[in-house]
Amino acid sequence: MKIEPRKVVIVGGGFAGISVANRLKHSSAEITIIDRSNHHLFQPLLYQVATGGLSPGDIAAPIRAIFGKDRNIKVLMGEVKSIEAKENELTLINGNKVQFDQLILAPRAQDNFFGHEDWKQYASGLKTLGDALQIRERILLSLEEAEQLEDPEKRQPFLTYVIIGGGPTGVETAGAIAEIARTSMRRNFRNINENEVKVYLVEAASEILNGFAKPLNGKARKMLEKLGVQVLLETPVINIERDLVHLKVGRISTPNIIWAAGIKASSLLDSLHVEQDRMGRVVVNKDLSVPGYPNIFVLGDSAHFKDEQGVPLPAMASVAKQQGQFLGTLLSVDFLPLPNKFKFKYENK
Ligand SMILES: Cc1cc2nc3c(=O)[nH]c(=O)nc-3n(C[C@H](O)[C@H](O)[C@H](O)COP(=O)(O)OP(=O)(O)OC[C@H]3O[C@@H](n4cnc5c(N)ncnc54)[C@H](O)[C@@H]3O)c2cc1C
Repeated sequence: MKIEPRKVVIVGGGFAGISVANRLKHSSAEITIIDRSNHHLFQPLLYQVATGGLSPGDIAAPIRAIFGKDRNIKVLMGEVKSIEAKENELTLINGNKVQFDQLILAPRAQDNFFGHEDWKQYASGLKTLGDALQIRERILLSLEEAEQLEDPEKRQPFLTYVIIGGGPTGVETAGAIAEIARTSMRRNFRNINENEVKVYLVEAASEILNGFAKPLNGKARKMLEKLGVQVLLETPVINIERDLVHLKVGRISTPNIIWAAGIKASSLLDSLHVEQDRMGRVVVNKDLSVPGYPNIFVLGDSAHFKDEQGVPLPAMASVAKQQGQFLGTLLSVDFLPLPNKFKFKYENK
């Protein structure tokens, strides 16, 4: 009698999904990776594409090419719409169904506009290559516009950049824009004076890089200020309209508005109907399995996993990667591990 291989389905070819597949590729399982795009993206360098320092190809690799030699790994480009956990089935947005024996969920997080979904149309997030290219185009078109305007007052909005959110993404993006203002803008645009360029980093809290060790955030703020970035602390955004940001302390007029103020987990996870935290992440067991579903696992930015001090692990590439490695090792055997028999432990290297 021929025994059918186990069907393992991985949703999301990001840091977590790729790491699981890498560990599972030598197992007897039949693996399917489903991703809405056909490439794995190195998100930490997205800001470099947005500001013209790198090309899209420098930070993206086709998922099919990564596993080209692994006969037991199939890649499907498609967006998963819902999970029918009790039926061991997924539905894609094109209506196709995919069956699984074991399911690994690691879909990308999305921008969190904290209930102000209408702001999304005026402020670009930075999550995908498409977002980065859109920001890049806006920055360049803005400069072209400024170059042609003689009236300094009319020119100012096109030379102004507002980055909302003082986390790592906001800090890196603000710094990179301030850098280009000093270098390529000065070199390539004859009518633009670098002193006219205004870069604002807007943060509602009393310091940037919250969650990082104390001296680090102050140091980072001073470095940004040295580059010419105006860091506005304790300044919540009140409203965003087309080309206009309303702050507690006034308004800034510019078409260059970048949203880096927070993330929430993919809404796909809602279809599991299990406990989620306020960011929409699934509260998982110690082995990353979903309570009540020993064959379904959630990891990376989609998982709420507490460390030994009871603090949820942050949404970071290293967490996603280590969770993927742990789970890939756990599932490389042909029997289903008992829930919570094995425990994931994050190493902060
Ligand atoms: C701009 C930026 C800068 C960052 N900088 C850093 C940094 O410096 N250091 C650090 O440690 N971390 C950084 N991070 C965070 C880090 O990138 C994430 O924590 C990490 O990518 C999470 O990995 P993941 O596998 O959970 O998800 P991702 O890497 O986001 O991958 C998820 C995949 O799921 C796919 N997907 C989404 N929805 C669906 C669906 N419904 N169906 C099918 N496929 C789907 C997506 O296309 C994507 O390929 C940064 C993030 C961003 C956005």
